Amino acid sequence: MFEKLQSRYIFRGEIVLEKEFHIGSGKGDARTDALVVKDFSNRPYIPGSSLRGVLRSTIERIASSIGKNPCMLVNKGCVTNSGELQEEFKKILKDKDKTDIESFLNDDSKICPVCRLFGSTVIASRIRVTDLYLKNDIKLTAVRHGVAINRDTETSQDKAKFDFETVPAQTRFDFEIIGENLDDNNLALLAIGIQEMVDGDFWLGGNTARGLGKCKLAGLKIKYFNGSEGLRQYLVSREDGLDEMSKEDFFNKISIVVA
Ligand SMILES: [Zn+2]
Repeated sequence: MFEKLQSRYIFRGEIVLEKEFHIGSGKGDARTDALVVKDFSNRPYIPGSSLRGVLRSTIERIASSIGKNPCMLVNKGCVTNSGELQEEFKKILKDKDKTDIESFLNDDSKICPVCRLFGSTVIASRIRVTDLYLKNDIKLTAVRHGVAINRDTETSQDKAKFDFETVPAQTRFDFEIIGENLDDNNLALLAIGIQEMVDGDFWLGGNTARGLGKCKLAGLKIKYFNGSEGLRQYLVSREDGLDEMSKEDFFNKISIVVA
């Protein structure tokens, strides 16, 4: 079930924090209870998996509002969440009939549109979210003090004061998503999520209920090739061989799934 490489889309820009954020590392030290995740050079970064998770849930929320029924929310019509469809697929795999396998995988009543983009147990993801590294030098991360939960007990779980490290507002991170073999439906769903990011309706990390983690995507640029001639150019000239897609053309894809 290997898919030929037919197209590649590279989305780049920068994530700008409009509010400070905290993506926890699960670790603390003598000074702070909860440290942010840091890369190999001890600088804060955003794991691609964190961004991917938020992007997926953003797209799921909107897709379900326009009748696209992502399986995580409606819990039906997708092999990811349906025991019945999983049994059906197991049987087909056992028979090893290539045509049956392909027709199952191509059937939109068996795999929801969000799984087609982000992947599931039976199909590969079409997008890869790169880890996001710092673009600018930042001053020491601030520490905020939480509200006391229980002042009478002094156990470590119920500390009167809970500190967590934050990355300050205006911090910028390099953003990159690579998409492969995206069809118009994939592009449309991705455009819905990325449009939310560009508009700043996007929150990363923990404590978002307190307003932390609001960020936006700035300077979005899209480069791509599509088809075997484009692939040839890309193999020879790498990124110089790619075409550029305007933001307008990309966001216009949304009309495909809204209509
Ligand atoms: Zn699904």
